[in-house]
Amino acid sequence: MSSLNTGSNDLVHSLAVRLMQHLVVPTFVLDAERRVTIWNHACERLTGIPASEMVGTGDHWRAFYNEPRLCLADIVALDEFDQLDNLYAAHTSPGEFGHGLRAENWCTMPIRGERRYLAVDAGPIFDDHGKLIAVVETLRDMTDQKRAELALQNLAARDSLTALANRRSLDEKLQIEWKCGQRAGTSMAFILADVDHFKKYNDHYGHQKGDDCLRAVASAIGATVFRPADMTARYGGEEFAVVMPNTDLTGANAVAERIREAIVDLALPHSQSPTADHVTLSMGVSAIVPNLESSLENLIAAADAALYQAKHEGRNRVVLATPD
Ligand code: GH3
Ligand code: MG
Ligand code: MG
Repeated sequence: MSSLNTGSNDLVHSLAVRLMQHLVVPTFVLDAERRVTIWNHACERLTGIPASEMVGTGDHWRAFYNEPRLCLADIVALDEFDQLDNLYAAHTSPGEFGHGLRAENWCTMPIRGERRYLAVDAGPIFDDHGKLIAVVETLRDMTDQKRAELALQNLAARDSLTALANRRSLDEKLQIEWKCGQRAGTSMAFILADVDHFKKYNDHYGHQKGDDCLRAVASAIGATVFRPADMTARYGGEEFAVVMPNTDLTGANAVAERIREAIVDLALPHSQSPTADHVTLSMGVSAIVPNLESSLENLIAAADAALYQAKHEGRNRVVLATPD
């Protein structure tokens, strides 16, 4: 009787293994020691690594990443949930899906040689006594959806004429940096830049050339502001803004001067300008350590007032806001 049972168990086991091998969903299984016991055909196709190379090893990470690291199945096997934030772009909380986890990440896929965005589910399998015997990890290639989502996000965040950040992104960035500056007690700076006599430029060269000019100015500003934490945005028509976290008035002045010089170096002819023979920028610069007595509006209004002064003092210049 027991040998009959063993026989039917073996049959069920081999059927389960075969089913998993042929499942269209890329799947691999680790045993309790985190060695690969199953690496199905779909997983071979996704990763470019044959099961014969993977089964029996603990090297499953190398199908997805350049460096050894935990995969989701390892985290489930080890109960090392505190690693999730560091290792995944997004993930569910432990307990949200029973004992399993769901996570998403960009994977370098070294053997395939192309980055893919994978959504991953990992679920543990326990024996009748509650002892872990395996963890099943299934993978879904979400690269196309993720790229579409990022392209949409990018579209919504960029100004269509200049490709700089748009006003909405700028407002979000200002809010975020204001809170960071408040927490850290560090100064943040704001530059407001406005093209000099641009109405005359449009009237003389035409709106199309005006657009070209704005694109050239935007690209020169963007190339001058290269710190990843800073943001350059189109503030409005022919106005641009730069947000610089962790920057005081002296630092922001240096950046604004570099921008002013970069626009002069562009040497875009402007035959109608009363103040120069080429396109120039005027700039107002302000900086503030965010606190409860100050506000973002103060920071922007101060830069605006300084810009107004730069216009009145003759344009093509940088004016620093006077601290009040
Ligand atoms: P100022 O030196 O005092 O700044 O003079 P200005 O002529 O630049 O100032 P004003 O604000 O009077 O004119 C801004 C002009 O910018 C008017 C508007 O037609 C033009 N403008 C705004 N947005 C665009 C745009 O997207 N493309 C083009 N070609 N022109 C624009
Ligand atoms: Mg203007
Ligand atoms: Mg102007």
